[in-house]
Amino acid sequence: MADKRDYYEVLGVDRGADDATLKKAYRKLAKKYHPDMNPGDQEAEAKFKEATEAYGVLSDADKRRQYDQFGHAAFEQGGGGAGGGFGGFDFNGADMGDIFGDIFGDLFGGGRSRRTNNGPMKGSNVRVAVRVTFEEAVFGCEKELELTLKENCKTCNGSGAKAGTSPETCPKCNGRGQVVYSQQSMFGMVQNVQTCPDCGGTGKIIKEKCPDCRGTGYIPQKKKIKVSIPAGIDNGQSIRIRDKGEPGTNGGPRGDLLVEVQVSRHPIFQRQDMNIFSTAPITYAQAALGGEVRISTVDGDVMYDVKAGTQTDTKVRLKGKGVPSLRNKSVRGDHYVTLVVQVPTKLNEEAKEALRAFDAACGNKPADKSAGGKKSEKKKGFMDKLKETFED
Ligand SMILES: [Zn+2]
Ligand SMILES: [Zn+2]
Repeated sequence: MADKRDYYEVLGVDRGADDATLKKAYRKLAKKYHPDMNPGDQEAEAKFKEATEAYGVLSDADKRRQYDQFGHAAFEQGGGGAGGGFGGFDFNGADMGDIFGDIFGDLFGGGRSRRTNNGPMKGSNVRVAVRVTFEEAVFGCEKELELTLKENCKTCNGSGAKAGTSPETCPKCNGRGQVVYSQQSMFGMVQNVQTCPDCGGTGKIIKEKCPDCRGTGYIPQKKKIKVSIPAGIDNGQSIRIRDKGEPGTNGGPRGDLLVEVQVSRHPIFQRQDMNIFSTAPITYAQAALGGEVRISTVDGDVMYDVKAGTQTDTKVRLKGKGVPSLRNKSVRGDHYVTLVVQVPTKLNEEAKEALRAFDAACGNKPADKSAGGKKSEKKKGFMDKLKETFED
């Protein structure tokens, strides 16, 4: 043991390497030199042994401390350390078992920790989408979906076997659905559990397949399914319909059908949770004088009393004109309306005249059409007004 390599050197890590670094380094070497990957390669096996031994010591805090203090001597027969056995540590120890599962799980095909099951299993869920209008989402609706569901094959009653025959117990796994592989390794026998390749985990073998379903036990059938979409549903939410998904296996229940609701955009209304938002145009006269304006809501048009002197972008709330709560239809959100004062762009002569008169009545001097360079006069007018303001 005199020419034994330093454990840190074997793993290619610093003396201060932490556990994660050690593990990573060992994993890399173990994958490279594992006997299964290098059958018959004595050198690889030796390297694998060497790395495993180094990791076994350095991954154990006590042993590492002893090693750091005494070097290899710590683990030689009669030395100051744990002593005995192969390099002084036990390959079958619990910690090595963990490392083994951790590192070799994927090397041995991933079957070590994966649970295979041939008991009843629920089928997968099926997802579909349904499109509804803005109003349908607000008030709820019924939709009929047409989709293809796998139904039990009536010919074979779902067994998948040809009439007069029945599925047989898989001889490879004796109906367990899994097989255990034993492998001889330098650590002793290693057992791997894998899904039975012959029966695919069902534990049954169908010798003569049912001609109708080709042995699957299911026949795709078009089905019409009514979906009741509750009032208040929002874009992207799903409705679960039990037992309309994929069939279960080994007598398990069917999966569910998940219907995702896609709500179309509305030309006027926007929605945020339970509230609806929109804008409504009002005329300048309505804004200034006040009066009734017609506003569209999901409940139809309503008349709203605009206060005199309403500014543009004023927000008003129409209480209870929003979206119902999914939980309680009678609880509704609100509808917020932004009143936007419209400035007319096309005026006839009469309207223009009226506006000039209106402006004059407000005390504004009409713009002088011939006013070109008479800035001072304009300025004076402005100063006069300012004066008036201060005098008030
Ligand atoms: Zn069939
Ligand atoms: Zn089998």
